[in-house]
Amino acid sequence: MSVSALIAAAALTSGAAADTTPCRAQENFVLVVHGGTARAGQVPEAKLVFMRKMLGRARNDLKRGAHGVDVVEDVVTQMEDSGLFNAGRAAIANQEGFVETDASIMDGQTLNAGSVASMRYVKNPITAARLVMDKTRHVMMVGDRGEVAVTKLGATVVSPDYFLSNTPKSDPEDHGTVGAAVLDRCGNLAAGTSTGGYGAKIPGRVGDSPNIGAGVYAKNGVMAGSATGHGEYFIRFTALRSVAARMEYGGQSLAEAAAAAIAEMDAAGEGRDGQGGIVTVDAQGNVAMPFTSDGMVRGMVSDDARPTVGVFEEMN
Ligand code: ASP
Repeated sequence: MSVSALIAAAALTSGAAADTTPCRAQENFVLVVHGGTARAGQVPEAKLVFMRKMLGRARNDLKRGAHGVDVVEDVVTQMEDSGLFNAGRAAIANQEGFVETDASIMDGQTLNAGSVASMRYVKNPITAARLVMDKTRHVMMVGDRGEVAVTKLGATVVSPDYFLSNTPKSDPEDHGTVGAAVLDRCGNLAAGTSTGGYGAKIPGRVGDSPNIGAGVYAKNGVMAGSATGHGEYFIRFTALRSVAARMEYGGQSLAEAAAAAIAEMDAAGEGRDGQGGIVTVDAQGNVAMPFTSDGMVRGMVSDDARPTVGVFEEMN
């Protein structure tokens, strides 16, 4: 079968049209976001300013009843377009000097998920992931053929000079993934993550960000979260699914589960590897954003709290 025939067949078998009725079932909502790990002493003011404004707008949307999945796609798209984060426009180039992006999105109500990996020309990888979730019966599309498929589904492509980074990075510590997790006024959980990976990655390498359960996870009644850090560890430890499992089967609170999942990888990496952080929210609107890296660029907003942002201990 040709690629277009396959896509048409997949599209025919995809799920029902999304519910667009505004969410009104409950008053409370929460949005948590991150802009990647940070090193000691690094205070990326421009990212924090951007994030605070973005959170203010998203708060209005959520108050009006926006659906969590839409808010995740929207805020991640804004960060991809900003040219400030290691995702979309400012994604870090690989060892050979070209950008390859990964992204994912998950709907906690249905457990539907979509992801893309090793995209070279897609402008907004998070939207490509959403198209995979909404318009196909698949979860993950990768590489050149995946890119052809998501383009046919409606993803916008750009020329390589759209991306700001086109020189190989020698520093594997160069990070800055973006992500979001939401509890909306329907009581639904959703999450998404988008990245260029990290500096000096080998072309073709795929990290945790597009891997469901590792760099992203959402399940109604339990939790939603997005990860940043040393992706290989987040994959091996299925970091975010591990948070959910600790809660579901181990009876842990979100704070206990999130801290334990992060500590486990840090311990395995013996202080050299395995560091990073997660932003998470549970079904009651509790938030946990632990990190074992020096810092994590992050922010949150809720129905009863104005946007707060921070990198290290403090958020304000
Ligand atoms: N987790 C990302 C990856 O391994 C990188 C990061 O979050 O900084 O691709």
